Amino acid sequence: MFNTSFRLLALIAALVFGALTPAADRPKLKALIIDGQNNHNWKSTTPLLKKYLDETGLFDVEVVTSPPERQDLSKFRPQFAAHQVVVSNYNGATWPAETRNDLSEFVRGGGGFVVVHAADNAFADWPEYNEMIGLGGWGNRTEKNGPYVRVRDGQVVRDTSPGRGGSHGERHPFLVETLTSGHPITSGLPAKWMHEKDELYDRLRGPARNLTVLAYAYSDPKQKGSGEREPLLMTIAFGEGRVFHTTLGHDTVAMKCVGFIATYQRGCEWAATGKVTQPVPADFPTADKVSSRP
Ligand code: ZN
Repeated sequence: MFNTSFRLLALIAALVFGALTPAADRPKLKALIIDGQNNHNWKSTTPLLKKYLDETGLFDVEVVTSPPERQDLSKFRPQFAAHQVVVSNYNGATWPAETRNDLSEFVRGGGGFVVVHAADNAFADWPEYNEMIGLGGWGNRTEKNGPYVRVRDGQVVRDTSPGRGGSHGERHPFLVETLTSGHPITSGLPAKWMHEKDELYDRLRGPARNLTVLAYAYSDPKQKGSGEREPLLMTIAFGEGRVFHTTLGHDTVAMKCVGFIATYQRGCEWAATGKVTQPVPADFPTADKVSSRP
């Protein structure tokens, strides 16, 4: 009884406090970035992922680094539940069962989860992870993991034809096109914008349940792509939780694109709270021109 009343009072106090207090004085959202194993250079990309969240002024950011490859992971147990959003920059060995369970319970219970680029290569054999990320690649993913998801004639199509899950062509700048403009993450962004040189992930496969494609790009066979319009920015509802999945961000060049930065910052806020309060930056790329920060 006391506990319930106390929670109610705390909630009212938080609402009043939040409404009357300038943003800079509000308690920050707690974000946790996970790294430590990745076939990508996480030592150079995690500092950017942290910096971009710090720059919003909305987050207190903690980074937890797993033991390196081939080391004992049995004690690796980040405190997901102490945060509002967990960002994965991890693509490595499978976590212990209790750590996997902690993450899926955290998200199912209403936590935010953000999957960046090769983090969607991880954990092919962990069914709940594949539910959370919607689509994944590599790790021997095939039609057994679920359909391909493509945008054809402006519609999301689930394609169950057999074949490998996950590939990409040559790295190149490409045009990102918004499919769902009414979502808080994409609201106010240009309908089309040029992304800096990056891998354009294609042929991802997964359960793709409760998945919304926010943006896609044409994967051009001239760049050894699939010839399909491939989803790049997605949200997934998992229990009470919100997942933002960006396939962008192979390296620091790709991550310095203002299109990557802004969609990542907005995706993290949305995953944490269900809302986006950040304005679209003035240096956001246009349909003709990439825009990067130093
Ligand atoms: Zn990559």
